[in-house]
Amino acid sequence: MTDIPEDHPRYQSLLTRHRIEEGVEKGITSKQGLIAEGRGEAFDYLLGEETIPSADRAERTAAARLLLADRPVLSVNGNVAALVPGETVKLAEVVGADIEVNLFNRTPERMEAIADHLRDHGASDVKGLAADARIPGLDHERAKVDEDGIFAADVVVVPLEDGDRAEALAEMGKVEIVVDLNPLSRSARTAAIPIIDNIIRAVPNIAEHARDLQGASDEELERIVGEFDREAALAEAERAIRGGDLR
Ligand code: ATP
Repeated sequence: MTDIPEDHPRYQSLLTRHRIEEGVEKGITSKQGLIAEGRGEAFDYLLGEETIPSADRAERTAAARLLLADRPVLSVNGNVAALVPGETVKLAEVVGADIEVNLFNRTPERMEAIADHLRDHGASDVKGLAADARIPGLDHERAKVDEDGIFAADVVVVPLEDGDRAEALAEMGKVEIVVDLNPLSRSARTAAIPIIDNIIRAVPNIAEHARDLQGASDEELERIVGEFDREAALAEAERAIRGGDLR
C-alpha cells in the first residue's frame, strides 16, 4: 500500500484508507472509525477531493478565531490521530492551543495509544487522560473531559465529532470549529465555523493561514471572523456536492 504511485488518480484516498487501517491495527482508531471514514470519502469524492473556496475561507476564519482565543483546544479522536497527528501538533503550536484526546468509544487503552502516538509526533502535553470534568447533558462516558482542557476552553476545534457532543459543547457556550465532510451533519450545523473539507487538507491549511495571520492585529482578525457567513459556507458545500461537477 505504501507503494501507491503519487500520480494514481485515487492516491490521496488510498493513502487515507491505508492510514486508517494502520490506525485500527495500532489500536488508535475504532472499527466505527472505519465506517466514518467510508462515509467521509463518499462526500469527498463528490467534492472533487479538493478544498472548495468556501472551505478555504472557513479555514482562514478558523485560523483567525484560534489566534484570538484565550484558551483554544484541539480535540483529537481516533481518526484524527491516525490521519493528521503531526499536522495537529503543528497547528497547536502555531495558534498556542492545547491538544485533548476525546473519544466516542473511550477505553483506557485507546486513550493511552492515541496520547503516545501524538507524543511520537512531537506533542509535549496531551490532555484528556485526567477526565476530571463533565460536559453537562451527556451520558457519563461521553461527557468526560479535562477540567483545564475542553471544559475551560473558549474555542474548541472538533473534527469528525458526533452530533450530540457537538450540540452539548455549543450549549456550554464554546465557540466550535467543526471539520466534517458532511454539510448536513448536526455537528457541522451546530458549529460557529463549519469547515466542509477533508481533515487531511483542512488541518495543514488552517495552520498555513494561522502562520500568515500571525502578525495581524486583533481588529484585522475580528474583521475576518465577522465577515464569515456560516450559512453560506454550508449552502455552498451542499451545492458543490449535489451539483457534482466531477472532473
Ligand atoms: P452527526 O451526528 O453529526 O450527524 P454522524 O453520527 O453521522 O454525525 P459519524 O457517522 O460518526 O457522524 O461520521 C463522522 C462524520 O465525519 C461524517 O459526517 C463523515 O462525513 C465525517 N468524516 C469522515 N472522515 C472524514 C475526514 N477524513 N475528514 C472530514 N470529515 C470526515
